[in-house]
Amino acid sequence: MVSAAIARDLRSRYGADYRIMRAASGPEALTVLSRLALRDQPVALIVADQRMPQMTGIEMLKQARTSTPGAKYLLLTAYADTDVAITAINEIGLDYYLLKPWDPPEEGLYPVIDDLLEDWRQENPDRTSDVRVVGHRWSDRSYEIKTFLARNHVPYRWYDIERDAEAGRLRDLANATPADLPLVLVPEGDTLRSPSVLNLADALGLRTTARRPLYDVCIVGGGPAGLAAAVYGASEGLSTVIVERQAPGGQAGESAAIENYLGFPKGLTGSDLARRAIAQASRFGAEMVLARDVVGFEQRGPVRTVLFDGSGEIEARALIVATGVSYRRLDASGLDEFTGRGVYYGVTASEASQCQSEDVYIVGAANSAGQAALNLSRFAKRVVLVVRAASLAGTMSKYLVERIEGTPNVEVRYRSEVVAGRGDGHLEGLTLADRGSGITEEVSSSWLFIFIGATPHTEWLGSDVARDDKGFIITGQDLLAPAYVRHWPLPRPPFTLETSVPGVFAAGDVRLDSMKRVASAVGEGAMSIYHVHRYLATV
Ligand SMILES: Cc1cc2nc3c(=O)[nH]c(=O)nc-3n(C[C@H](O)[C@H](O)[C@H](O)COP(=O)(O)OP(=O)(O)OC[C@H]3O[C@@H](n4cnc5c(N)ncnc54)[C@H](O)[C@@H]3O)c2cc1C
Repeated sequence: MVSAAIARDLRSRYGADYRIMRAASGPEALTVLSRLALRDQPVALIVADQRMPQMTGIEMLKQARTSTPGAKYLLLTAYADTDVAITAINEIGLDYYLLKPWDPPEEGLYPVIDDLLEDWRQENPDRTSDVRVVGHRWSDRSYEIKTFLARNHVPYRWYDIERDAEAGRLRDLANATPADLPLVLVPEGDTLRSPSVLNLADALGLRTTARRPLYDVCIVGGGPAGLAAAVYGASEGLSTVIVERQAPGGQAGESAAIENYLGFPKGLTGSDLARRAIAQASRFGAEMVLARDVVGFEQRGPVRTVLFDGSGEIEARALIVATGVSYRRLDASGLDEFTGRGVYYGVTASEASQCQSEDVYIVGAANSAGQAALNLSRFAKRVVLVVRAASLAGTMSKYLVERIEGTPNVEVRYRSEVVAGRGDGHLEGLTLADRGSGITEEVSSSWLFIFIGATPHTEWLGSDVARDDKGFIITGQDLLAPAYVRHWPLPRPPFTLETSVPGVFAAGDVRLDSMKRVASAVGEGAMSIYHVHRYLATV
């Protein structure tokens, strides 16, 4: 019997770390899952056979979403059921389907399960972690620290000082005053009191300074473009360092589901993509310097130098700028004071799960807003997408629009905007305006997520690196256009992706006319290394 065989194989490999439970039918499995949910016992993975007695695997998994929204779903199928399984990826958020038989399990089963369990552990850090954070739910410092930990894949447990008795106990044990919050308790070392991200990174043993005096290539920015450049640079023998001010993954790291990246039919989370890319870059020997903001650039003869905020610098023979873009601020009265206290630019797993059973508002009409709406709809009671235009068709991919239309607790409010926010210490309500009639409406909500386009922040490059009026970097043949040609200093034409400073390249969203997609950023990052080689051959 399939259930006995899979339970046996799972037990032999994962039995020491997980409790493996077996049910002989769909209804029996649903009863067990509800019981676990009532006891608040987390379920990491549900494996269902499509052909089960009384109900199909897909029917069972669909119903299981209610009691176990965070679990990973694996469907065992026969070849003939493949089409049904592919449809289930969209319909019920199936994570993977596996063709039977899976023998030998070392090849056919365990690699898939390892991946799914690792994803689950990343998404449920509080279940598996040694780092503890104690603070106020609505404090922007708590938000900053939780975001830093989450995006750097450091599991942590969160204790809300107003809600958890354990939080008060830890605060008293640490003799902490209100100004010391948030506290970060690490397994080894002193308790950190409202630490800067640099101090936190140091305490966690993350690297914050460079090892060598000079590198072949320094990459600024650890998004998809920077990580791809690191993988290709290091794998092709260049001494490579990447500097990231927050967490590797960049904007993509905030995406709940990247569905258009080649090779991942179910899609993958940005954080999963980042985690894999970091492991790959490290395996090839790329060095990663974290929690350092690059604020200056200097040319010292053939050496290209980047300067860190505070102190510190890195020298390299070539530089790749892969700093991407960051969100524009929403200009609405009273909102700024609630940034990190109910108003968020982007969304991480920790905020998503805290919106449980609440009304959530999202501003934006592009794919990032659409993905966020779908992600948050798994937790929130209702998600309202506030859109200035009369339709989403021009700005959001068709597959996302269809998904949003098919999700009952997502509502789209067209021709509308958020014009004000209010609250006491944290966001409590919003004023929405109809753009046609001007009529306003007050709504109650503690959650506003904003996705309204982005700008590059390239001022730190100084005047030698030519940029357009918005700050996007001009590269390659574009530098030979009449408006920019005066910036290019050499008789040879610039290499593709080279900026007006020879030996400095730009890749990904920060580049003028880039495609603003994960795949194109990865492609440009990889390609930039080819041109770095060509440049280094000229000096
Ligand atoms: C929520 C969301 C969902 C998305 N979904 C998709 C999708 O499904 N499919 C898709 O193809 N695209 C998607 N995108 C777009 C995609 O993520 C971007 O096109 C891609 O991440 C660009 O990569 P990048 O490396 O050029 O820049 P970024 O991803 O922006 O990375 C830049 C990195 O540089 C760092 N940095 C910036 N300045 C400095 C500095 N001065 N010093 C040190 N570090 C610095 C930043 O912290 C950041 O980590 C999404 C974007 C968002 C925001």
